[in-house]
Amino acid sequence: MATKQIPYKIYLSEEEIPRYWYNVKAHMKNEHPPFLNPATMKPCTKEELCQVFCEECVDQELNEKDEKIEIPEGIRDFYKMFRPSPLIRAYYLEKLLDTPAEIYYKFEGNNTSGSHKLNSAAAQAYYAKKQGLKSITTETGAGQWGTALAMASAFYGLHLDVYMVKVSAEQKPHRKEVIRTYGANVIPSPSDTTEAGRKILREFPGTGGSLGCAISEAVEKAVTSDSCRYVLGSVLDHVLLHQSIIGMESKIAMDKYGVKPDIIIGCMGGGSNFGGLIAPFMGDKLDGKNDIDFIGVEPASCPSVTRGKYVYDFCDSAKITPLAKMYTLGCGFMPSASHAGGLRYHGMSPVVSQLCHDGYLRAVSAEQTKVFDAAVMFAKCEGILPAPESSHAIRVAIDEALKCKAEGKKKTILFGLTGTGYFDMAAYKQYNDGTMSDYIPTDADLQKGFESIPKCPANEGLI
Ligand SMILES: *Cc1c(COP(=O)(O)O)cnc(C)c1O
Repeated sequence: MATKQIPYKIYLSEEEIPRYWYNVKAHMKNEHPPFLNPATMKPCTKEELCQVFCEECVDQELNEKDEKIEIPEGIRDFYKMFRPSPLIRAYYLEKLLDTPAEIYYKFEGNNTSGSHKLNSAAAQAYYAKKQGLKSITTETGAGQWGTALAMASAFYGLHLDVYMVKVSAEQKPHRKEVIRTYGANVIPSPSDTTEAGRKILREFPGTGGSLGCAISEAVEKAVTSDSCRYVLGSVLDHVLLHQSIIGMESKIAMDKYGVKPDIIIGCMGGGSNFGGLIAPFMGDKLDGKNDIDFIGVEPASCPSVTRGKYVYDFCDSAKITPLAKMYTLGCGFMPSASHAGGLRYHGMSPVVSQLCHDGYLRAVSAEQTKVFDAAVMFAKCEGILPAPESSHAIRVAIDEALKCKAEGKKKTILFGLTGTGYFDMAAYKQYNDGTMSDYIPTDADLQKGFESIPKCPANEGLI
């Protein structure tokens, strides 16, 4: 069959922005086990979850049956500011690699927050406003999520407190200032504004903080404040659902040109962008309609899936959140300073974890310097300066394309380019100066993290 000439950029029209999100759980034979309340070890009820999260998000979190979940007009209106995002054929990268593979990437960096995170920020701020809340809280590591939520909160008119991991707030003062410009309040974490923060400061004076610790603070602030809820930027099922807009648009664009991916690659922090990118393709795979090789890439410095355990664990380091069944390094795992701040999370989305456990996708890890080799190669030939996080996916896309070349195979590769790296120039500087190193935790380092996994009956024999 003659294929239509593929343009360098495939744009959909505004009308073609999907009208619903894709809930992959409707196709999963094995649902992931429920969240557990650590006090009772019973599944969390809707009421319990609604004390922390917006009600609509809780409904979405618990929905295992509806494949299509409608995107309200109020959210589509916001999406129109930065969506649809382009699907790009990486002609120049293909040429440079001299590969028979066709490479496509879905670029989510075309908005001020610089990443895919605005897709879920828009939805969660909209639902908070609709519920009549006055304010929301969240944490941010590298700062992309805080920026995205600040933009969405400004758009819908909500107060936002952002607990920003202290090292990031110090390393990225400009990122912090963008968040403040959109009207949000930034608090470096750990802070003395919460019980969780004070406890961590006592135990680890001088710590640069971690995502897990910032989550503890933001949750505590939400549950102890009036008309306030907590908003999370990844990991949870409803965040993956919102990110399925990435996969939906990719599928619509590829179908239009009769392109069928053989391999889909995404980087994994908490798993939401990868889970969203693969959602509709994975739904088809679960129904036996394709045999796509799904590859999630994580940093070798924080190898939650490739070296972690599939157990129940807390989502935060102060152990105040529910327990989730996921691949984890232990909620007490302190990752070494790596430049892919958005990928430094101890756990992984329960949906992605379950799909991995059941063999429908695979995880690989990549070392920092090799990731930056790929980032620079990509920047030079495709023009976009990629985020360090996104560059994990670029690394593996290049490796797969080179494998095609070695084996003389023509495969179609799709990867998620989650964002731009303008706020990561300290990392690029290290790379350019030749002073970047690869931190890979030893088994003993990992063991320390594993010891923080709760020894509950559900984990018996698994730790
Ligand atoms: C946050 C972030 C990630 C990690 O996303 P998850 O959905 O949590 O896996 C990847 N890339 C960029 C640019 C990010 O900002």
